[in-house]
Amino acid sequence: MLKLLAEYESSKRAKSFRHTKIIATLGPATEEKTLLQSMIRTGVDIMRLNMAHASHQWVADVIWHIREASSKVSRDVAIMMDVKGPEIRTGVLESPLTLEPGAVVVFHTTDHICNQPNTNYVSVNYAGLPADVEIGAEMLVDSGLIRLSVIDKDATSIRAEVRVGGMLGSRRHINLPGVHVRLPALTKKDEDDLRAGVAAGIDFVALSFVREAADVLTLRRFLDGLGSRAKIIAKLEDQAGLDNSEEIIKQADGIMVARGDLGIEIEFQLLPLVQSKLVQLCQSYGKPVIIATQLLESMMNSPMPTRAEISDISTAIRERVDAVMLSGETATGKYPLECLQVLKTIIRSTEPTVQKEINNALSLMKPKSKMLRSAAVLAQELGESGIVVFTRSGFLAYTLGALRARNVPIYAFTDVDSVFRQLLFPWGVEPFRIDFSDDPEQTIACALRILRDKHWCEQGTWLVVITNALASDKVIDTLQLRQIE
Ligand code: PEP
Repeated sequence: MLKLLAEYESSKRAKSFRHTKIIATLGPATEEKTLLQSMIRTGVDIMRLNMAHASHQWVADVIWHIREASSKVSRDVAIMMDVKGPEIRTGVLESPLTLEPGAVVVFHTTDHICNQPNTNYVSVNYAGLPADVEIGAEMLVDSGLIRLSVIDKDATSIRAEVRVGGMLGSRRHINLPGVHVRLPALTKKDEDDLRAGVAAGIDFVALSFVREAADVLTLRRFLDGLGSRAKIIAKLEDQAGLDNSEEIIKQADGIMVARGDLGIEIEFQLLPLVQSKLVQLCQSYGKPVIIATQLLESMMNSPMPTRAEISDISTAIRERVDAVMLSGETATGKYPLECLQVLKTIIRSTEPTVQKEINNALSLMKPKSKMLRSAAVLAQELGESGIVVFTRSGFLAYTLGALRARNVPIYAFTDVDSVFRQLLFPWGVEPFRIDFSDDPEQTIACALRILRDKHWCEQGTWLVVITNALASDKVIDTLQLRQIE
């Protein structure tokens, strides 16, 4: 393994290259302009805006600042807006409630309540809650820290007994494991957030609590209506999402294994198994997958990760996930840049040891797609090589990423701005924005020159190029070997 690492370190590739992408959530700890520049320089590929805690003015301002920071450090990043979806929350409390085991809480959906002594009253934001839960159902509040059982209900409220107590603050998230919640996939707030995000230029939308493939279609139709080409990441975070995961994966552009809520909604010991299963499923459909939440939780307050966190991240890298995501660590933590450095270091030391075999679970139907597999094999065989691909939709580069050719950078050239930033997501894809010429030969020459001049490849490097060519009067797909001059 050390030998592999040494080979990797001494690679002739001048630029440091990473297969696994890094997503960082922005917040008070990182919205300052110079810090944004440092984050981009340190290696963030996608910035996440979590709409649980954001105003529309903040969205417009922060996107502007990200683009400004990007141009200052000459490195692009994509922007992902994470909308809350069908989330149930408690209302605002004047002061936190201390809930002891055995206490009774009334969760009410209207303001008309008759106060009774020794009862705690908490409002909820979902009028359908009493209809959706059965007596006996489990309610988990504030990431499962407080646990209750439903003991009674009427048309507008439910009574629940505290099993595990704690301090309940305002606007805490409620999980209802196994309950089919009939909230719409996209709430009014999500729609308003999306309008603001699309106007400011988001590249990805992550949709929370996707329960079925139709939820993705609902979002797609809404984005189409806004004229947005943003790609959709479905967050899998409850049992319904897991039950329908295959159909959801087929419909979405990517998946997030949202371990925060998932770890509450399913039995915690199943989480690693579910993670592996979802990663495999995504890879068999060629869809990029993100591992999210608590990757470096201890670094919220400490400059060093725990051993368990290092192992967890390393496991995700060895599973060949497309991206790893930081949440609170960069949004409100004390050490956002250190977290990014730690992630990069673990990625760098683990990637040379990921399995070398091409992803054979991915079935490629069309002849051109099959050609991509040959390109991946050939580039691996050449060693110190890479694949050059030209794409307007991004499809070819996403598919090449899904093939997981270890140590083979995919240099993806596009002339579409939005596609360019979306190419920052898949495994091993390094995007470039150029204008395409009518003459494919000129476009290739331009791409190879950029790779040499920007020190991605040294002179003499052999590359596998996937491009169109003119044969007689026909445009044909070709796979070519080209050397950097
Ligand atoms: C999660 O639950 O892991 C997650 C990423 O979602 P959120 O941060 O929106 O709760």
